[in-house]
Amino acid sequence: MLNKEIEKKLNEQLNCEFYSSYLYMSMAIHFDYYNFKGFSSWMKYQAQEELTHADKIYNYINMQGAKIELQEIPKPKNHWESALDVFKDALNHEKKVTKNIHELTNTAIDTKDHPTSIFLQEFVTEQVEEESSLEEIIQKLKLTKDNINGLYCMDRELGRRTH
Ligand code: MG
Repeated sequence: MLNKEIEKKLNEQLNCEFYSSYLYMSMAIHFDYYNFKGFSSWMKYQAQEELTHADKIYNYINMQGAKIELQEIPKPKNHWESALDVFKDALNHEKKVTKNIHELTNTAIDTKDHPTSIFLQEFVTEQVEEESSLEEIIQKLKLTKDNINGLYCMDRELGRRTH
């Protein structure tokens, strides 16, 4: 049984994961438009991964016999000035997600909701990975200084992502 505050926050997190997926899909579309197929493919995998996060939260709320209520998903940004700009936005977004996950975990701990606190541990660790991989890409993109050869090299590298 979930308390009302946890139920509400888990529902908000569910919406946030759907929004994340939508945002990464918008980034994939942007890259596809400019023929950066590798960046686009990376973003599509990222969008899919967010849906698996949403699915885990969906199952957890359901398993606890609580109510899932879908909300509107905000329209994501759809234009960026550079590849670096896109990945910087992705990192900023993930930092916000991390903050949400931490707040949710704090609430679970404060209310002695051990199952939810343990359920969220995977998400806490996941956020460390998300931020770290984006930081690495941003660092490499900064080194290319918008040089087209460097960009295509990065596009190829990110295009190797398979899940
Ligand atoms: Mg996520």
